[in-house]
Amino acid sequence: MTDVPVTLTRRRDTTAAAPALPSRRPPTAPASFHVLAKPTGPICNLDCEYCFFLSKEALYPGDRFRMSDELLENYVRQVLESQQAPEVAIAWQGGEPTLMGVDFFRRALELVDRYQHRGQTIQHTIQTNGTLLTDEWCALFAEHGFLVGISIDGPPALHDAYRVDKRGNPTFEKVQRGYDLLRKHQVDTNILCTVNAANQDHPLDVYRFFRDDLDAHHLQFIPIVERANDTGFQEGDQVTDRSVDPDAWGRFLTAIFDEWVGHDVGNVYVQTFDAALASWLGLPPAVCVFAETCGNAVALEHNGDVYSCDHFVEPAYLLGNIATTHMVDLLASPQQRAFGDAKRDTLPQYCIECDVRFACNGECPKNRFTLTPDGEAGLNYLCAGYLAFFRHIDGIMGLMADRLRHGGFADEVMAVLADAPRNEACPCGSGRKAKHCHGRT
Ligand code: SF4
Ligand code: SF4
Repeated sequence: MTDVPVTLTRRRDTTAAAPALPSRRPPTAPASFHVLAKPTGPICNLDCEYCFFLSKEALYPGDRFRMSDELLENYVRQVLESQQAPEVAIAWQGGEPTLMGVDFFRRALELVDRYQHRGQTIQHTIQTNGTLLTDEWCALFAEHGFLVGISIDGPPALHDAYRVDKRGNPTFEKVQRGYDLLRKHQVDTNILCTVNAANQDHPLDVYRFFRDDLDAHHLQFIPIVERANDTGFQEGDQVTDRSVDPDAWGRFLTAIFDEWVGHDVGNVYVQTFDAALASWLGLPPAVCVFAETCGNAVALEHNGDVYSCDHFVEPAYLLGNIATTHMVDLLASPQQRAFGDAKRDTLPQYCIECDVRFACNGECPKNRFTLTPDGEAGLNYLCAGYLAFFRHIDGIMGLMADRLRHGGFADEVMAVLADAPRNEACPCGSGRKAKHCHGRT
């Protein structure tokens, strides 16, 4: 999912006044929540081989997959009247949401204007494959301060390994064109890079391409864990060969962290690193997968159906429809609260006793389908990677957290590392000489 970046690693601060209390909130409703709206359902102009959403078409046979104006208004009104937090995200995703056309989004913006409460700040976000963007789209995004998530898996050869169109043709050139248009219009972008079997062993090629060639400042890395079954649902314990390998996932994050911590703290925002820093500070991470519980980020289908999460658009996780039940009631429902609490309550003992549980929290329940070393079910498929990564960053995260607690900034850690005598122990506490630590040779 695309979370709105609220950075700890960057020198920035935002404050906003609290909105007037909405009139209608059940007691179990979360103070704020996130809705990923899918106005075209799973429909997309591309055919990315690992996409878990394309198979969801089967849930709505014969459907046109277009959000109606009536539903759009219902959605915007409900989401704005039921949030208590001063910042509200209006988030669009798919499928490919730009297939709805620019006018749909103009109408959505009009409705946001109409239903926005005094004191509410709106963060508009959209996740797109970028191939259909035009000057008109980008001007609209710029005018309304959209944060545009664009899916790129690295340099052309790595991106095109799985991100292909309906004819199996590569898509990188079209995506680059869209990205360039966004830059031309000075739209804030967030690159969403899935990590899969094709790019997992090229972390620095991927990272440096984003930083140096695309001049990107917001990055999200999402592991592809794709179940091998015919249902398209979260079932079974086998993964496809496109999925990332757990150890490779750990090495991928570690290599990028070492590059980042040496050069880019405060300049490049990497969602996983920011979430980790929050954990080292004892704060709740802004990313659901590393939080103790979840359940406050639901998926809204084109017809008003609400599911527990974007990753659980399956009949068993259907909460109801906003045409008949208010969205806040669906969020507050016993079914959804139990879904979110299960993230904590179903952790195996191995996780409960884990030294990096405070940062990992067993990651996302959708990936918990392997056995612990002593045979207990429910261990995360990516566990080995997370164990290695979180242990590797422990010393540096401790240093950064310490700086922040004493009124400093996270980026000061770069000078601490640069000034460390090469032949003495690295200040991160790894026990290695500074010259051999954090990617230095
Ligand atoms: S199941 Fe929970 S942790 Fe996983 S993506 Fe959904 S909300 Fe986040
Ligand atoms: S690193 Fe592994 S054992 Fe530790 S909390 Fe995460 S999934 Fe559980």
